Amino acid sequence: MNNHPPEDAIRCDACPVLCYIKPGRTGACDRYGNHDGQLVRLDPHVVLDRVVSRGESVVPFLQRDNEWDGNVVGGPKTFVTAIGAGTTYPDYKPAPFIISSQVEGVDMVTVVTEGIFSYCGVKVKIDTDRHLGPETNLVRAQGEAVGHVTTSEYGSQMLSLGGVRHLTGGSRREGTVTCETLLELCNGKAVELEVDEGAKVVVQAGKGPVVDGQPEVQMRVGCGSATIGMFAKQWFGKVDDVVVVDDHITGVLSEHQAGKLLGISATGIKLKGRRSTPGRYFQVAEPGTGWGGTNISKPLSILRDFNAKVAWRGLRLLMVSTTGEHFAYFELDEELRPVEKELPAALSESVARIKENCEPALCTVMFMAGAGGSLRAGVTENPVRLTHSVRDALTRVTCGGAPVYVWPGGGITFMVDVSRMPENAFGYVPTPALVAPIEFTLKLADYATLGGYVEQVRSLESLMSEGRRHLSAREENPWPLGASARRGSK
Ligand code: SF4
Repeated sequence: MNNHPPEDAIRCDACPVLCYIKPGRTGACDRYGNHDGQLVRLDPHVVLDRVVSRGESVVPFLQRDNEWDGNVVGGPKTFVTAIGAGTTYPDYKPAPFIISSQVEGVDMVTVVTEGIFSYCGVKVKIDTDRHLGPETNLVRAQGEAVGHVTTSEYGSQMLSLGGVRHLTGGSRREGTVTCETLLELCNGKAVELEVDEGAKVVVQAGKGPVVDGQPEVQMRVGCGSATIGMFAKQWFGKVDDVVVVDDHITGVLSEHQAGKLLGISATGIKLKGRRSTPGRYFQVAEPGTGWGGTNISKPLSILRDFNAKVAWRGLRLLMVSTTGEHFAYFELDEELRPVEKELPAALSESVARIKENCEPALCTVMFMAGAGGSLRAGVTENPVRLTHSVRDALTRVTCGGAPVYVWPGGGITFMVDVSRMPENAFGYVPTPALVAPIEFTLKLADYATLGGYVEQVRSLESLMSEGRRHLSAREENPWPLGASARRGSK
């Protein structure tokens, strides 16, 4: 067996896979190719052009096919991202581009590199009350475990996907599927996930989730108790009692402090579940995809018999979910049993108001990664100084020009909303790991102090002459070369 690579193949050393690539072919990740004997990064390198007029309507990241026209020379109106820039692997090499600029008369540098992240994942916020699955249960893609359900937030279910254990600690297929899933989500694609003992959910950054085939349109207005507080005045005088059904905290108007302050009389209503404080009940049903994130489809199933000493014939009761999507109106008969009737017009307004106050349900995908020891070595010969510089807010970190949140504590662990990044900013390598752009912007003087590769600094003009893909910066993002970059800002 001949283990020698073909003579005309060249070796890509941009990641540990070290592909041999024959002429006209690409490597295993499709990011590098052999073009006439030259190793080339196949995706175009992206630079952002600042939107000059803030009032100007710009299609985000509209691709321009123009080469640099010479109008933007070394000024802060062009920002060089790391998308398509290449990497520093095997890490002692300086970052592919270290670009000088001037911000308000101060010399700055932006160090750009595509990071290869084995320690990375996404946190997904899914705006829905529908129960996706028990906390800590596995989340699967293509049948493979790619993450787990984590703690719910206000009106949203949270998933934690990826991470080094799923990428490297399981079977080869688990790692590959995890990497694929992260890549799709980070690049704004839709992914179907399934929670053990839970729901199937289609997730796409910036779009509404689809839970068990049902598109989620609105997120809830608040928990059941908050809903009572918000709308108590609008119900006063129009109905005798209201139950807002919610998997977490179901609210009852007549017992709630809001009802008491309005002088609403006791109605003798009794709920199942555990009473927390007056008018606030936990665990009235099991979690599910029915009313208010519970498993119920018949609201009366959470009520016990009314107290005959307090309730009265004709008592008017509204039951409604936290989105206003489900509602029913009842009046008690002579046996004090609720009988469903048509919702009176005066109450339909309040149900409509609940709906009106619900925000659109979206999925948010936050990429989270650690810019660890190796990546930092491409920025400075003394990597810990970069960490200190980031922590001291002397160095601004961006991902494809988008702002990031850097976690306090050790290392450079950051999060970025993928919806604020240019499309298809992420890649992968089959180790498996995700490839994500990361840029460090700081004063040139500070860069020299922390042991940066100052001899590698080049001007923006020299880069532009080679031709890049120009995209318009997103208006909602702070300009990476704005004044705060000069001062230093996280
Ligand atoms: S997987 Fe991609 S980056 Fe890694 S060596 Fe092969 S072509 Fe280069």
